[in-house]
Amino acid sequence: MSSDSTIRLQGGDALIAVDVQNDFLPGGSLAVPEGDAVVPALNRYVAAFAARALPVFATRDWHPANHCSFKAQGGIWPPHCVAGTRGAEFAPGLVLPEAAVVISKAATPEADSYSGFGGTDLAARLRAGGATRLFIGGLATDYCVLNTVRDALAGGFEVWLLADAIRAVDVKAGDGARALGKMRQLGARPMRYEDLAP
Ligand SMILES: [Zn+2]
Repeated sequence: MSSDSTIRLQGGDALIAVDVQNDFLPGGSLAVPEGDAVVPALNRYVAAFAARALPVFATRDWHPANHCSFKAQGGIWPPHCVAGTRGAEFAPGLVLPEAAVVISKAATPEADSYSGFGGTDLAARLRAGGATRLFIGGLATDYCVLNTVRDALAGGFEVWLLADAIRAVDVKAGDGARALGKMRQLGARPMRYEDLAP
């Protein structure tokens, strides 16, 4: 059993890397400040999961060029993560194991989803694999991480939030901190890499 100070990875654990895509990194069309900092942070978790043959999932925005979330269609965002473009690719530094499962979301013009669970088979795949505890990090704290965590908890999963592997957009100052508070309030437990048992 794990305590709050030491977390021992075990069968039933799954890692979810949320939207670590070029457009969300510095220089991208919807850059998250310090978004690139999650890449080495997540790589450490990926290595820990892969070493134990535990599953790794990577979600991605996979939008058509006329996606409803883009300003030209009345949305609030600049075009980002258009399927097949470099901006939609995972950060080149992100080291995913061969067996990693890629979950594409919001891939039709009319549907948006900040959550990796929205309109995808993520929950079904997790359950089929016997996952009960999810370790979630990525981009961005106040949008896709928040909504993925919320759906995971609503779906009955236990959630550990990788506090050292998330960054916020902070459209309004403090959004990231508020999202963190909300996720804790909903039952997500923040942790850092150092909390993992060796
Ligand atoms: Zn999007």
